[in-house]
Amino acid sequence: MTDAPAPLLEFCDLRKTYETTAAVDGVSLAIAQREFVALVGASGSGKSTLLKTVNRLVDPTTGTVRFEGENVESLPLAALRRRIGYVFQSIGLFPHMRVDENIAIGPRLVGEKLAEGRIAELLELVDLDSTLAARMPDELSGGQRQRVGVARALANEPHLLLMDEPFGALDPITRDALGERVRALHEELGLTTVMVTHDMAEALLLADRVLVMHAGRVVADETPHALLDGAGGEIAQGLVAVPRAQADRLAELAR
Ligand code: ADP
Repeated sequence: MTDAPAPLLEFCDLRKTYETTAAVDGVSLAIAQREFVALVGASGSGKSTLLKTVNRLVDPTTGTVRFEGENVESLPLAALRRRIGYVFQSIGLFPHMRVDENIAIGPRLVGEKLAEGRIAELLELVDLDSTLAARMPDELSGGQRQRVGVARALANEPHLLLMDEPFGALDPITRDALGERVRALHEELGLTTVMVTHDMAEALLLADRVLVMHAGRVVADETPHALLDGAGGEIAQGLVAVPRAQADRLAELAR
């Protein structure tokens, strides 16, 4: 019998309490290398808090997070974050820095310089023209800015990509295109990806595995196929019902 490979990421009875709120209330699960996991659930269910315990933007009250076999609390913060790409909704590009400077900021903060040609390569990865490197963030569209955010997250060649509502502020067409691009990059670069979204349709279309959160707990852990087949319980099925009803109504209209 061969042993299964060690998980890339592991949450062990993780809890985060804010005064009276249990934002994360006992989560234990493992994520394998190269999985694309979506974390879905209603607003306030604990998705962001759980995600942020991985790159230590949030420290758990109790429990541990292990990344590549090591307790994240035992790793120097810079070394940990160097191995983890992070993309979030508000993007957080520095407005007074050019696109290329924004992309290079992570390596620069740890005293490294990106190799010659790396900026152009990163822009190409996210389907942006290399001439955009010299622009300021306010000279870009929202979709272009978010692509720069993805390029920046990939600059350090991370093993793990964390995304917190990355496409939430984008129009539906841009959102769809960028979602597909990120899924393709996930394959091309051999990434492990964890994406927070409140949109079950997006989760079903992009992820290999969907975790449903409710009141700080993971109440379903299923493949998109199983969820569409009725698995995961009441809360998960309540979320699946939304895109399904929309698809049915559209099909009806098209008749
Ligand atoms: P989600 O990402 O699913 O919308 P969050 O993880 O942001 O949920 O929040 C989970 C719960 O924890 C919510 O009730 C939220 O109000 C609370 N919470 C999150 N961050 C803080 C904080 N810094 N201080 C106090 N309460 C917080």
